[in-house]
Amino acid sequence: MAEGTLSGVGLRGEGQHNGGMTQRPVLTRTRDEFARALAALHGRRALVMTMGALHAGHLELVKRAKEAGDHVVVTIFVNPTQFAPGEDFNAYPRTLEADMDALATVGADLVWAPAPEDAYPEPIDVSIDPGPIAKVLEGASRPTHFAGVALICTKVMGLVRPDVAFFGEKDAQQLAVLRHVFAQLDVPVKVEGVPIVRDEDGVALSSRNRYLSEEERIRARSLSAGLRAGAEAGAKGASADEAVAAVVEVLEDAGGIDIDYVALVDEGTFTVLAATAGVALGAEEERARVTGAAGGGRSARLLVAARVGTTRLIDNTALVLKERAGE
Ligand code: AMP
Repeated sequence: MAEGTLSGVGLRGEGQHNGGMTQRPVLTRTRDEFARALAALHGRRALVMTMGALHAGHLELVKRAKEAGDHVVVTIFVNPTQFAPGEDFNAYPRTLEADMDALATVGADLVWAPAPEDAYPEPIDVSIDPGPIAKVLEGASRPTHFAGVALICTKVMGLVRPDVAFFGEKDAQQLAVLRHVFAQLDVPVKVEGVPIVRDEDGVALSSRNRYLSEEERIRARSLSAGLRAGAEAGAKGASADEAVAAVVEVLEDAGGIDIDYVALVDEGTFTVLAATAGVALGAEEERARVTGAAGGGRSARLLVAARVGTTRLIDNTALVLKERAGE
C-alpha cells in the first residue's frame, strides 16, 4: 500500500502493504516531528485522543472525525499523570503496530505517539483542578485521575488546535469533565460525544476487556444487562432510586461482581441524583435545581463501575426519567 505522506514535510508513514486499499497515517514521535506534520495540514482538524490498544470503539471516533474534518489527528499515549500509583499504568497494553494498521482502515491522517518525555518535556508543576464534577464517582475512586486527564487534554488541544475533538460516551464523566474544563478555560474546541460501541454480547468495548477470563467475560455481561434493566424501569416511570436498584439487582443475581458504584446523574451537570450506599449525592438544592429545571422529563445517565475478578470495568446508558407527582 502507499505510505502515509504529508506533502512538503518529508514525513512518511511507516507503511506496510496490506492489499493496497488503505494507507497508514503518518507516525510522529517527537514534538518537533509532530509540529512539522501539523504545520502541513490546511483545513479543518478533527482530533481523537486515545491510549492505544485500539478497538472498534476508538475507530468509531475516528470515523466520526473523518466526516467532520479535512484532517484526522490521533494521539496514542498512555498518560502517566492520570494513573495513580498501584494502577495499571505499566501493564496497560501497548500495541502501536496493530494500532497503526487499524487506523489505516479508517483513514486517520496523522498520529502522535509520544514518549512521556515528549508529552511532558519538563517536570510539570502546573495542574488543573476540574472542580467538584471531578470529585464524585470515578473521581472518588480515582482522586487524581481527572486532573491528569484535564492536563493532557488541555496540552494536546494547545498543540493541535483542532476545530473539533471526539470523545466516547463510554467515559461519560470524562466527557462531562472535559466539556466543563474547556468551557471554563476558554479552550476553543467543539467537543463531540460518540455513543458507546458494544460487542455482540452487550459488553462495552474496552482495552481492559482483554484482562477478563472466559468466565469473567460472561459475568461482565451483567453490567450492560443491568443498565438496560435500569433504563427500562426508568422509562416505565421508576424513580431515580428504583432505577439504581434495578441495576444492582441484575449485578447481584450475576454473582461475582464487586460493585464500586451504581449511580444516576443529571446528564449536563453530573449532579448525583441517586446512587448505591457510600456515594455522595449532589447537594439537595442542586438536585432540586436540576430536577426542577428539567420540565417534562430529565435527561439522566445511569452509570456503573464494578470489578469482575481484578478488572475494573465501567459502563453507562442514557435515560429520561419521567416526572413523578410530588418530586
Ligand atoms: P482510551 O484509549 O480508553 O482513553 O479511550 C479513548 C477514547 O475512546 C475515549 O474518548 C473513550 O471514551 C473512547 N472509547 C473507548 N471505548 C469506547 C467504546 N466502547 N465506545 C465508544 N467510545 C469509546
